[in-house]
Amino acid sequence: MNLLPRPIADRAAVQSWVDTHLGHLFDGPAVGSPSFRGGQRAADAALARFDVAGYAARRNEVQPPQRRGASRLSPYIRHGLLRLEDVWAAVAGGPANDVGKFRDELLWQEYARHWYARLGPATAAPVRRAPRSVMPGDGWDRTLPCLDMLVDELETNGWLVNQTRMWLAGDWTVRWGQDWRRGEDRFFRHLLDGSRAANRLGWQWTTGVGANKSYGFSRWQVEKRAPGVCRQCPHRNACPIDGWPDDPPMVPVPVPVEVDLSGPSEPVQTGEPSAVWLTAESLGADDPAAAAHGELPVVFVFDEQLLARLRLDSKRLVFLTETLAELGEERDVELYLGDPGAVLEERSVAVTHAPVPGFATRAASVRPSVIHPWPWLRTPRPGSVRSFSAWRKAVERR
Ligand SMILES: Cc1cc2nc3c(=O)[nH]c(=O)nc-3n(C[C@H](O)[C@H](O)[C@H](O)COP(=O)(O)OP(=O)(O)OC[C@H]3O[C@@H](n4cnc5c(N)ncnc54)[C@H](O)[C@@H]3O)c2cc1C
Repeated sequence: MNLLPRPIADRAAVQSWVDTHLGHLFDGPAVGSPSFRGGQRAADAALARFDVAGYAARRNEVQPPQRRGASRLSPYIRHGLLRLEDVWAAVAGGPANDVGKFRDELLWQEYARHWYARLGPATAAPVRRAPRSVMPGDGWDRTLPCLDMLVDELETNGWLVNQTRMWLAGDWTVRWGQDWRRGEDRFFRHLLDGSRAANRLGWQWTTGVGANKSYGFSRWQVEKRAPGVCRQCPHRNACPIDGWPDDPPMVPVPVPVEVDLSGPSEPVQTGEPSAVWLTAESLGADDPAAAAHGELPVVFVFDEQLLARLRLDSKRLVFLTETLAELGEERDVELYLGDPGAVLEERSVAVTHAPVPGFATRAASVRPSVIHPWPWLRTPRPGSVRSFSAWRKAVERR
């Protein structure tokens, strides 16, 4: 177990801290996203800045960036700095059509979380489909500006609008027949909002796994959503993605075995905590465990084995460290590098349940003395999670 010094909440200082203490876990040097800063202040400012007016019409726009209507809140939502319930409330009073569309998207996020909590590791179920032919380059044809600019944005900023995530995933799977799980991993390494829940759901939805249609990507979307890009393309007179890809063959997949990771609906207490354990799922100032035990020190463990396996891009580590450094200005924060089970085995901790398989395995060895419920936007209920509409009907039933 390795107690780390406290980082200072400043981009250059955090990058150097990440290089020094976590440098063996990513391909260096550490560089934060130029577009997103971690921390509660940045999250609150992003929410305050977001104007929902025009969202419905512009959420799918790609280029130029000033036409985009997406909120860019996802990294903060992903790490619990913004709760879905608060984001939902923040857009009240906006134009009804925009508010309705935006809230539908928040429900998609909630659906992804329920789906993952119910299916857990089964969401990585393999799809056996031979590649159609050998892909040029590194999975996407970088000689096409419409794809090259997106891979560049993914790798530099750690974020993409929903529309271009579908383009990259559709090109990878539907056109080229590549394994969606490798593409999903590639996204996961770079996205600041990367979650197995929403990322796997997005890739499966695009590919058509578990559904009866897939999302084909072609020049048509580029002309519509990113006008001007095709004019700069060396292939503009012989565009290799001019036509729609064929629908991939649909293969039946076995019905997955369900797990239930939704967690308690009331706090469960078995002892007196002396610290709060924060996880990457819930790093906000109003994390239920941190808020309920405001006088206790907060502990965060960078899970060395997990990070060594994932080899996330340093942008996410910088984002997390910025968040923890800022929290350290308000509270007593202890940061460790190691195995959460080993670091916390002698401690009596309060924690907020996280509805993901990784929490279940770590909590089994940490054995928290208080577990606070996950702040769901919709209470989990029995019923189908096989489609968004079936799930929505089940959770909104009175
Ligand atoms: C292939 C693929 C991979 C994806 N991977 C992720 C991921 O790892 N993490 C992630 O949070 N989202 C993922 N999404 C969903 C969506 O693309 C992002 O949430 C969205 O682009 C984030 O930008 P935003 O905050 O500006 O979204 P906005 O359009 O402003 O939406 C507001 C919020 O609603 C939620 N939301 C919007 N669209 C979706 C959606 N389709 N599914 C689930 N939630 C949604 C997000 O929390 C988002 O922050 C993926 C989608 C696809 C097609």
